[in-house]
Amino acid sequence: MNDSTDDLNAIETNDSAKGEAEVLESAAGTVSLTAETEDDVEIRPTDIVFDCPHCGHNLCIDYRGAGLQTNCVECGAAVLVPIPDGMKIDDLDLNPGELLTQLFQTRRMLQEARDKIAEMEDTINDLKLRRSELEKSRLATLHRCAELAGMSQGVQKLQNEAMAVMGRITALIAEEQQH
Ligand SMILES: [Zn+2]
Repeated sequence: MNDSTDDLNAIETNDSAKGEAEVLESAAGTVSLTAETEDDVEIRPTDIVFDCPHCGHNLCIDYRGAGLQTNCVECGAAVLVPIPDGMKIDDLDLNPGELLTQLFQTRRMLQEARDKIAEMEDTINDLKLRRSELEKSRLATLHRCAELAGMSQGVQKLQNEAMAVMGRITALIAEEQQH
């Protein structure tokens, strides 16, 4: 009874360990352990520094990427991260929980960043809409101003005409009084 339970546990443990290894490998390839160029980042003492075997570009990667595959930032070729002398790869495998936590954090940050981007896109669209409304309203105002200026000129012209008529009437009255 005890023996069979132990066997079952052993099988389950193996399965979950295998699953974790796969997750870790994809994490190394895509998310947290992407190789960086030397110029871009400050090299930590724990980083593994090596040359791409395809293009010779100097690569720098977090020590947790040791023994895993990643892509060269320069030529994009798949490269195997070397395991430094004296480094026990088992030490890394002992603590997959830490890496998984990092992976989940990265994923959460990625999602939050996506949400933020979507939010900002909404804001940008709102602003664009508002801007086109303002532009329309500005054009309408300009149009109205032109209309008002035209009307004002018309009023001025009528006023001048009225003045001229008044002048003529005044002259006629004066002429009449002289008779
Ligand atoms: Zn390369």
